[in-house]
Amino acid sequence: MTRFKSLPVVCECGTALAVYLKGGRGRLRKMYFGRIKEDPFGLFINEPPVPLETEIFCPNCQKRIGTVARVSGHAAVKINQGVIRI
Ligand SMILES: [Zn+2]
Repeated sequence: MTRFKSLPVVCECGTALAVYLKGGRGRLRKMYFGRIKEDPFGLFINEPPVPLETEIFCPNCQKRIGTVARVSGHAAVKINQGVIRI
């Protein structure tokens, strides 16, 4: 059974974008929609499913946070690592 830890996802402008339940080690590269625990701006709602290639932007500084993609068969956001501080 994989253990998850709550990881705050913060834009480089300081905006707290989400809290993500991350499994495994290493950097945050993608966020599966089903594991987003807090989404104060409603950026990561996948209902109805968001089309692939949709870009998600920070509501404050408008930088691109990531792009919707399919990862291992699940819809996820591929993180733009230059913008997200972990
Ligand atoms: Zn920002």
